[in-house]
Amino acid sequence: MRVPEEPVLSFVDAHCHIDLYKHPQQIIQQAENEHIYTIAVTNAPSVFAHTAGLVAQCKYVRPAIGLHPELVHSHKHEIEALRVHLSQTRYVGEIGLDYSTSDEEIRAAQRQVLSTIANWVSESADKVLTVHSRRATRDVISILSGIKAKVILHWFSGTKKELDRAIGSGFLFSINSAMLHSEAGRALVLQMPRDRVLTETDGPFVQDGAGPATPTTVKATVRGLAELWEQSPSDVQAATLDNFRRALAI
Ligand SMILES: [Zn+2]
Repeated sequence: MRVPEEPVLSFVDAHCHIDLYKHPQQIIQQAENEHIYTIAVTNAPSVFAHTAGLVAQCKYVRPAIGLHPELVHSHKHEIEALRVHLSQTRYVGEIGLDYSTSDEEIRAAQRQVLSTIANWVSESADKVLTVHSRRATRDVISILSGIKAKVILHWFSGTKKELDRAIGSGFLFSINSAMLHSEAGRALVLQMPRDRVLTETDGPFVQDGAGPATPTTVKATVRGLAELWEQSPSDVQAATLDNFRRALAI
């Protein structure tokens, strides 16, 4: 019997919209060549099969099944499809809440979808959730606290108090370059336990100077974290990989 090779990881991109780049195959190839473990989030169940197909042969890029909170209003009928795809991947995202809208009906629909997903994965210690929480951290924490699935809060932008609650709930945090470019983002990152921190890009939404961030941009994020933490980039690289492996048992 052939023993599967243990992948040698170099970096982690815990939240990337691979399917939304102009040339996704190039981005995927780059991540594969450089051994960057990438969670390819999707915004709706109807595009999951496409993304899963794009990365089917990959060792380092994994598809995630998601329903973006900002699409819940128009796509909530896809929730059953999300349940079907749950058995095909351990990664779930992008999911969460986004209270940029003040429409109470839309917010309630988002909460309902997130609670439904939380119920489905509450006993699955193997599942990994990458979660959006813009202006809604408190509700995200109350819905996801206590589930067995691993929760990674992507691009966390809540208050110090909310951060403490998220830490208390055992959540991890994935940090992107845009967070490190803002004073408030850096202040929050400094308050996060270093053994809970991962890297991400949120590409192609986040820009990387020359163009959209790609999984290789996590190298710059590691350098940014190293500067912030006054550690060497190689120590930070090793720490974020350790955090990822430990949390996800990879
Ligand atoms: Zn995203």
